[in-house]
Amino acid sequence: MTNAIHAASTEPIPVAPDLKWTHSFAALGPDFYTALQPSPLPSPYWVGRSRALARELGLEEHWLASADTLAALTGNQPLPGARPLASVYSGHQFGNWAGQLGDGRAISLGEIFTAHGPQEIQLKGAGRTPYSRMGDGRAVLRSSIREFLCSEAMHGLGIPTTRALCVTGSDAVVRREELETAAVVTRTAPSFIRFGHFEHFSFSDQHEQLKTLADYVIDRFYPACRDTAQPYAALLEAVSERTAHLMAAWQAVGFCHGVMNTDNMSILGLTMDYGPFQFLDAFDPNHICNHSDTQGRYAYNKQPNMAYWNLFCLGQALLPLIDDQEQALAALESYKTVFPEALQARMRAKLGLTNAQPEDDALIESTFKLLASNRVDYTIFWRRLCGFTAQSGHEPVRDLFFDRESFNTWALQYSERITSADPGLRADLMLKSNPKFVLRNHVGEEAIRAAKLKDFSVVNTLLSVLQAPFDEHPDHQHFADFPPDWAASIEISCSS
Ligand code: AMP
Ligand code: MG
Repeated sequence: MTNAIHAASTEPIPVAPDLKWTHSFAALGPDFYTALQPSPLPSPYWVGRSRALARELGLEEHWLASADTLAALTGNQPLPGARPLASVYSGHQFGNWAGQLGDGRAISLGEIFTAHGPQEIQLKGAGRTPYSRMGDGRAVLRSSIREFLCSEAMHGLGIPTTRALCVTGSDAVVRREELETAAVVTRTAPSFIRFGHFEHFSFSDQHEQLKTLADYVIDRFYPACRDTAQPYAALLEAVSERTAHLMAAWQAVGFCHGVMNTDNMSILGLTMDYGPFQFLDAFDPNHICNHSDTQGRYAYNKQPNMAYWNLFCLGQALLPLIDDQEQALAALESYKTVFPEALQARMRAKLGLTNAQPEDDALIESTFKLLASNRVDYTIFWRRLCGFTAQSGHEPVRDLFFDRESFNTWALQYSERITSADPGLRADLMLKSNPKFVLRNHVGEEAIRAAKLKDFSVVNTLLSVLQAPFDEHPDHQHFADFPPDWAASIEISCSS
């Protein structure tokens, strides 16, 4: 089989004869999207494949190895049964209303039936759409590898996320700050609907469509809301709760998203649209990972408030369906209790505390303060802490601090808290709550540099490590090491 472009042939080639499709989003009607074909890329090649996701989706190994699949997932030939479309949405970007955006480069193929329910398949970077504005509809290899690896890494960490099945590349040149090459990420999720979809129909006074969309989301994903007195307020509350849990997960693992615009907020509470994200190296609560974010709007410690701000926008968008502003405000209230509780639960697990005590809040706060004042490596601290015992203290943890005195004071407080804990249970909980591996910028960079030279082995090795981030992987220790000096010079900004 050749890798050559199969330009817009209308004859579907039977690459996966048993893929069973449903097109529930397409059934919402043309107000919600534009039907169109992906634009082909010359001579595609595989960059990375998640066999774990393929298995979950019920796709056969040979399917994800075939030349036809490679062509189809690059947008070069139709997948039988797919109905490609680009959806329209709007959004608040960096706090300002940006109006119509819609998907400028992700083309949805429909949903396939799987053992985990219907999963939408999208090709990100598959060419221009009516919503591309000034963009070229493409994604570069570098950002596609980052999205691919991080989607699967987040899933490995147990954090809700859209998934990524594969990245395919092409030598076609894409112009960014410098010349790069194009790639396509095949990503999946139960739905890619964003807060921005609701804002679009609300603020353009298409309230019939707003209701259609809300009913669709409720019926498919939040059916319990239907049995309440005000289903749309109940939806807002349910989304607030999921978002609160997501923010707790991000904060606990030290994940910075970088572009929490309302068009990047999933209605299902999934991490989505991986761009300039970063896992913290040294702990700095004010860390800004996106070089375009000059005001620090999306700094690490601002994320929970920004999520709430975004939920407020969603609430405003839903108002035409709720009528009563008080009810909408009340629906948002749950965020303020669910987020801190969820964060405390995650931090207690990281500390190895198997039960809750009133003094835990203070312990968690003093831990964050200590890490900030010593700029301690966040992931390494937590992983080393798994070996801390009240009796011996623990040199490897102490060694991370330049201010030994403040560490000793904290260690005393912590030791007192854990004296009555069963050491085996505690260590077990901690090793499951403190990953050894996260996708640090410099680690991703290593995979990207090799991939640019057509060596995709690092991408795939890293993928297998990140899919099991709580395991030791002794052969891949260097992915868990401190960042090298050059890591600080990596600059990552918005869309690439
Ligand atoms: P992002 O910041 O990547 O979430 O993108 C914001 C909006 O711009 C989304 O609607 C994207 O589809 C669109 N966009 C980003 N990059 C491109 C591109 N290269 N070509 C077309 N549209 C793009
Ligand atoms: Mg986006």
